Amino acid sequence: MARLDIHLFGSPILRQEAERVAHITPELRRLADDMFETMRAANGIGLAAPQVGRRERLFVVDVDGVRQAFVNPELVGAEGRNKWEEGCLSIPEVYAEVERPSTVTFRAQDLDGVWFEVTAGDLLGRCLQHELDHLAGKLFLDRLSLLKRRAALRQWDEEKLNYPALRRVLPVDALPPEQAPPAPAAGTPAGDAAPPTPTP
Ligand SMILES: [Zn+2]
Repeated sequence: MARLDIHLFGSPILRQEAERVAHITPELRRLADDMFETMRAANGIGLAAPQVGRRERLFVVDVDGVRQAFVNPELVGAEGRNKWEEGCLSIPEVYAEVERPSTVTFRAQDLDGVWFEVTAGDLLGRCLQHELDHLAGKLFLDRLSLLKRRAALRQWDEEKLNYPALRRVLPVDALPPEQAPPAPAAGTPAGDAAPPTPTP
């Protein structure tokens, strides 16, 4: 497995619509493996193909005990509304409250091509919606009010100075999986980034 560079806000691929996967090939499975590894190394809970510079309709999540690749995912049901703070591996250190449906049903193929359905709320439900947005070229910033969006962009203007190439290269000496920090608990920021300050 390899760690892939994460494309950051400003990289054009994050604004392109992903393309339907026609055939699930060994290459696609390798990509999913690399995305799981990249997500783990970045302490994330979700990662979509455009975030690693790819066009496939594919994302991976590892949250609330669900570790799953979603190929050709579709939102087939949504209920309720709530607000939750979100972050994004492609917009490091920027967090904001986003309003979305509170419970969602998704349909997708797994890496064997088998269709499955999942209904989720809480952190997983959030994460699935955030990742689906990535496949449409959308970012959580797009869902903010004008004022909140301006504040988030100001934060990003400072943070992006750390990434002149708009790529986040993960260190090779990250902790091995058994020493990795625990997954964030419910109530912590959703989206695909880790909480801003991990609690002990
Ligand atoms: Zn994201």
